[in-house]
Amino acid sequence: MRISEMVGQVAAWHLVTFPEASAKDIAEKMLEEVLELQSAHGDAEVAEELADVVLCAFALAGRGGLDLESALASKFEVNKARAHAGRWA
Ligand SMILES: [Mg+2]
Repeated sequence: MRISEMVGQVAAWHLVTFPEASAKDIAEKMLEEVLELQSAHGDAEVAEELADVVLCAFALAGRGGLDLESALASKFEVNKARAHAGRWA
């Protein structure tokens, strides 16, 4: 499944399940999930929390009509070309 297809499916589910959620609400949930990821232990828990973060990103992108797949590809090229001094993105 392409990223764009997954974004569409997640956004459709999210819109039905959380119809009142704003972009800010989704971003706040994503931050909560990042904090859960930060304190996760073991591969299974880390993968699960990372999936939660990505699913929030997919919901945010899909509900906002953003082309996340293209943005990922173009931003990755930008990051690869950037001179880094101890940090990335
Ligand atoms: Mg979680």
